[in-house]
Amino acid sequence: MSTVFSRGREPLFNSPGNNKRRFNLSRYFAVISLIGIFVFVVASTYLYRNIAISAIKDHQSRANVDLARAFANSIWPRYQSFVTTKAAQLSSKELRDHVEIEKLKNDVDSQMQGLNVVKVKIYNLDGLTVFSTDPGQIGIDNKHNPRFTLARIGKIASEIELQNIRDDQQDEIEHTVLSSYIPIRKAENMPVDAVFELYTDVTELVTRLDETQKQITLGVIISFISLYLFLFAIIKRADKIIKSQDKKYNTDIETIRKHAYHDQLTGLANRTNFHACLDDATKRAKRSGDLLALVVIDIDRFKLVNESLGYDAGDELLRVIASRLPSCVRETDSIYRLGGDEFAIILEKVAHPEDIALVARRVLEALSSPIHIKTNEIIINTSIGISLTNQGHSDAYSLVKEADIAMMNAKGDGGNRFIYFTGELNAIAYDRLTMETDLRNAVSNNEFVLYYQPKILTSTNEIVGVEALIRWQHPDKGLVPPNDFIPLLENTGLINQVGEWVLRTACRQNKQWQDAGHPPVKMAVNISARQFRSESIVTCVRQALYDTGLDPKYLELELTESLFVENVEKAIRTMILLKDIGVYIAIDDFGTGYSSLNYLRQFPVDVLKIDRTFIRDLTTNPKDIAIAKAISTMASSLNMGVIAEGVEDMRQVSILKDNGCNEVQGFLYSKPVAANEIEEFLATGRMLPILTKVKSA
Ligand code: C2E
Ligand code: MG
Ligand code: MG
Repeated sequence: MSTVFSRGREPLFNSPGNNKRRFNLSRYFAVISLIGIFVFVVASTYLYRNIAISAIKDHQSRANVDLARAFANSIWPRYQSFVTTKAAQLSSKELRDHVEIEKLKNDVDSQMQGLNVVKVKIYNLDGLTVFSTDPGQIGIDNKHNPRFTLARIGKIASEIELQNIRDDQQDEIEHTVLSSYIPIRKAENMPVDAVFELYTDVTELVTRLDETQKQITLGVIISFISLYLFLFAIIKRADKIIKSQDKKYNTDIETIRKHAYHDQLTGLANRTNFHACLDDATKRAKRSGDLLALVVIDIDRFKLVNESLGYDAGDELLRVIASRLPSCVRETDSIYRLGGDEFAIILEKVAHPEDIALVARRVLEALSSPIHIKTNEIIINTSIGISLTNQGHSDAYSLVKEADIAMMNAKGDGGNRFIYFTGELNAIAYDRLTMETDLRNAVSNNEFVLYYQPKILTSTNEIVGVEALIRWQHPDKGLVPPNDFIPLLENTGLINQVGEWVLRTACRQNKQWQDAGHPPVKMAVNISARQFRSESIVTCVRQALYDTGLDPKYLELELTESLFVENVEKAIRTMILLKDIGVYIAIDDFGTGYSSLNYLRQFPVDVLKIDRTFIRDLTTNPKDIAIAKAISTMASSLNMGVIAEGVEDMRQVSILKDNGCNEVQGFLYSKPVAANEIEEFLATGRMLPILTKVKSA
């Protein structure tokens, strides 16, 4: 079945997934990993370059030191005194033009031949440039150069730098050079005599390094991009899976949410939804001052459909009802299934209270047209209770309570109607509540009594039996008739306890009469539907007979017709067990039920009791005569006894006699009376003085 979730405001929450934007894995991965790759490439390039440069520096510095030593060994002895002492006394110009410098240059040039040394400088310990292969620099003071200072105290200091160096054509070309300041001393542990500065050309090395670095960087980038693309493909796939799972999750959440807030059978909003929406609606109505109405709808005798036609039919019926309700209300009104056969409508912004009557009437009408389920045509009635916010209460709880009370009253008044809640109804509901408490006390205080009504054989006016009828001796209200409290006993489940008491008391009473020497009569005991359905009914009857010593053939159980349409198989089983005990079974109020006559063939029934409604107008209504006759004929052909109840008139007796019914029960002979009165009747030879008794009743 496809379920259409409809009508009824959506619940007050949204699924968490609806508000939050979904985490986008691919985008997250793309951004983060690109940044990561970029940072890694830059950092690793930088690191690689630093390491390579420092390796070049180390290597070349060592080479420079070796070179410097070679220079020193070959030329230093010749020039030492000039550099360390003489040079300081000359001006820059004198120094540049000095013959020693000329010689030194030639020596250095010949030494530099074939090497990658591009410049050589010699400083005295005061930092004066005594010699330079670049003559323009001779005489320059270099004492503040930090690397010179380091070399002066015996340390080697190198640095890679860019230098413009003249080529053979005297063009200045930018070279990458490593310049090293190297201390010069005669022997290893001797003091420093002067400082050499050697420039070696590392342009080629650095260019090669740059080339390699470019290749490595490119390689790294390509590897990373490949890895990135590979991972991106995986991530994209993972993202797709997550997305589809996310979608499924959201759909699941949506379904769960719908199931939590909607009734699956009818698709209407459910009770949980109802409470949330009503709460909201009452608050809105309170703020705006608008009239809000709650309409509670209950199907009359729905249980009967369920139990006679099966639960499938019951479900189908509910679906049909739910489908008919929307046509009765405005688009803005919301419909709910509260559970079982109960529905509710919330009507907001009602212009006039009378408008609700229109809706209620529409509902009654819509639901009363025949419903076809399988091969059956079902006609249902509904009881509707209405409560409004403008009656002083505006909270949801009161609205529900009041609509329920009104609905119960509509049901109590026979159903198929709607009732507005009034304060008066509240009093009735209150009465019902106190009655319930009183009833519970009545059970423990033994406030119930049995009255007995004789059953007469019209041919002889003999008492052939009595029916035990319960009364409640209420401490304030006096004698309360059974119709006022039996339904409540049924609803509260107290009926089982009270019913057992009735059975025992009636059996004991009958036995007492017999023990007192009165001619034996049959004792009829009414068994309610709930009592009959209870597991203990058979044991209860057997035990009552056993405990009181009454012969089962003097006990007759009066069952109502409605029992026979509810779970037929179980009813047959129970009746057979009861029959096995030896008691009689009568069908009470025969003709008022809704069941088919089919059951009569299947059930082990002994007696039919024609209902009072057919007897009442017997003298005036020929149709009632026909019914009484039909029932009597049917009973006799099915080998059953027949008795008419509610006989108040001698003419009714003669009509019944003429139509084959010879047993009667009614006020004509006697109202239900206390046990001692029955004893009197029995003592007078079971002859009932009709007229005198009726007069005195
Ligand atoms: P019922 O079993 O059909 O009992 C017959 C009812 O019709 C009795 O009402 C009786 O007083 C009344 N009645 C008898 N003859 C006449 C008559 O000529 N005219 C009129 N107007 N009424 C007559 P009662 O005692 O008020 O009992 C009402 C119903 O309460 C009973 O109907 C029965 O269904 C139920 N009831 C009574 N006692 C018990 C009980 O112990 N257990 C159960 N489960 N139900 C009981
Ligand atoms: Mg009865
Ligand atoms: Mg009856």
